[in-house]
Amino acid sequence: MSSDPIPYPARVREVTPRRAVDFAAELNEAQRKAATHPDGPLLIVAGAGTGKTRTLVYRVAHLIERGVPAERILLLTFTRRAAQEMLARAEKLVGSTSRAVHGGTFHGTAHRLLRRFGPEAGIANDFTILDQGDAEDLMQLSRAACGFADKTKRFPKKETLHHVYSRHVNTGIPVGAILREEYPRFVEFDEDFGTVFADYTARKQGRNLLDYDDLLLYWAMLLETPEARVIGDRVGALYDHILVDEYQDTNVLQSRILKGMCRVHRNLTVVGDDAQSIYAFRGATIRNILDFPRDFAGAAVVTLERNYRSTQPILDASNTLISRAEERFTKELYTTRTGGERPWLVTAQDDAQQTRFVVDRILELHEQGTPLREMAVLFRAGYMSADLEIELTARNIPFEKWGGLKFLEAAHVKDVLAFLRVLENPRDEVSWYRLLNLMPGIGETTARRAIEALAERGWNPEAFADFAPPPRAREAHEQLVALLRALRRADLEGTAGVAQDIVRVRTMYDGILRARYDREEPRLADLDRLQAIADGFPSRTDFLAAITLDPPASSTDLGFGAEAEDDTLVLSTVHSAKGKEWDAVFLIWAVDGWFPMSRALGDDDQIEEERRLMYVALTRARDHLAVTHPFNVYQTRRGADYSLAQLSRFLDRGVVRCFQQVVLESTETVPEPDAPAAPPVVDLRAILRGRFGA
Ligand code: ATP
Ligand code: MG
Repeated sequence: MSSDPIPYPARVREVTPRRAVDFAAELNEAQRKAATHPDGPLLIVAGAGTGKTRTLVYRVAHLIERGVPAERILLLTFTRRAAQEMLARAEKLVGSTSRAVHGGTFHGTAHRLLRRFGPEAGIANDFTILDQGDAEDLMQLSRAACGFADKTKRFPKKETLHHVYSRHVNTGIPVGAILREEYPRFVEFDEDFGTVFADYTARKQGRNLLDYDDLLLYWAMLLETPEARVIGDRVGALYDHILVDEYQDTNVLQSRILKGMCRVHRNLTVVGDDAQSIYAFRGATIRNILDFPRDFAGAAVVTLERNYRSTQPILDASNTLISRAEERFTKELYTTRTGGERPWLVTAQDDAQQTRFVVDRILELHEQGTPLREMAVLFRAGYMSADLEIELTARNIPFEKWGGLKFLEAAHVKDVLAFLRVLENPRDEVSWYRLLNLMPGIGETTARRAIEALAERGWNPEAFADFAPPPRAREAHEQLVALLRALRRADLEGTAGVAQDIVRVRTMYDGILRARYDREEPRLADLDRLQAIADGFPSRTDFLAAITLDPPASSTDLGFGAEAEDDTLVLSTVHSAKGKEWDAVFLIWAVDGWFPMSRALGDDDQIEEERRLMYVALTRARDHLAVTHPFNVYQTRRGADYSLAQLSRFLDRGVVRCFQQVVLESTETVPEPDAPAAPPVVDLRAILRGRFGA
């Protein structure tokens, strides 16, 4: 018995009932003024923990209450996670309407806009995005194509070439000036840089590849190029209000984009702290903050000084530390919170004792009621937590790590992604090169010839099937052709999800992995994880874009939040801790040459940036702050040579006076006072640590 299907109407989605936000009760006077500012440009410049981010959330709420359609608000933040958190908070204030606000990073937003408007401006929308590693690899191909591969050993490496290129594009500083400033020994190659960059640019265009910088560059060009005006105007007309957090870490290109986007309505709110600018090495400039009132005539400027995060003793230490900065615009922070212990300055014998202290103290605070997730251990660079990671694992304390080497930068993960990318964009030369080099029997030369064959036939995938490899590469070639065909067929039939693609790739790749890498088990487990993450994405395009633009930074970002313990300690680089706060913060390795890092020592600007970075670290703490430094430090990460370490230069006498000094006692039998402990014959921990080194 059959009958006509009956329609089942979707319900109107219930919007959480709104209650009027009580701005006066939840914000102080200056914050309220900023949050409820009428139209027009607004700059909030204020120190750490003064409620900048909170004010921005309330401003979003205010705009929605005022009747601005949520989808016409753009909220730009430094990470996608930060945007999600802010929008979740806005939702609590004004209900689910706020879900329509566009929140994300500059790069993510650029990507979204270019997919939509790019085709009208000569950027076919099947472009793939190169992450930094891929961009460097492509630079390497250009370097070779321009004949610099073996010309001279002194010719700059791909990383240097890419750095100079990126800096030039982001700051507009001429290449020659960058070389004089940063790489005087390469000044003679000024013109050659130009040659390589020209090839790099052409190569990207010919293969429809965009690097990170291109995303911003093309967005700016859409808005600025007179011939693109019709498109640029439509892009600009998408939003009525734009809000930007962490403005001190934006660069010239980003400021140009904002100018273009706000040309008509001028409704731009930016929030920042010059004392926390920590991305100058990537071209960010605090001039964006300083020049804001000039660039946007009539801009209102709000400053905030009351800190709501930390106790006064923690602020005293932070204020004193930053008061030593050469240039400085923000003022003293204060709090009305009373009490609080002085932050601790802990001197440890060595790495092991430092680790021991951190773990003991964490357990102690935990016993006193502080959840693990309210504590964080910060360090200057990712590898500095190696010893701690080993100890935490041994003692079964759950932790996640932010910053440092990321899952997606692992070679085997990049290998699998290369297959997906070639499917997505057959012109993706970097990925072709990567996957060809994986195949047993296919070497450098064959890979190059195969790519040339593809290029000659306009990157028609069948050109690879027709390519005639040398005999020893034949089997690999056949396998690869078969695999790619199967994948493409699944694509056409619409039977493939991206997780399914990965399963197919792995029927071949897992064998390669086993042959290529030591320690295969954790790597295979990584691929299982990748597959699980992929499963959550509607399409391959979405998946590839998301993981390239906003790579997961921690294990919880990897999509197993549900299984993961929810009470987890955070280990983080200081850079990745930006904007965050915890009840207890440990800053380890406060050793000169480690923080500031030794490579910054020759350069005043870099030292200043390191100082601001330490300021960011100290101002993350609400109630407890401990800075630790071991005074015996191994000289090389691999070796067992100890040397005496100096306390970080930022902790001068005046700063140290703000701290409670702590010396660690050992529970083990104390050695005879007149018999100093003999240096170890071999330092097994140092060797183990070496494995994590760069
Ligand atoms: P950072 O410079 O580190 O990014 P911030 O200026 O963005 O800091 P927020 O993170 O917004 O500061 O605020 C710091 C803490 O103070 C948060 O926990 C926030 O909720 C709290 N806070 C800010 N303003 C107020 C207020 N008026 N009343 C109560 N709590 C507040
Ligand atoms: Mg903030």
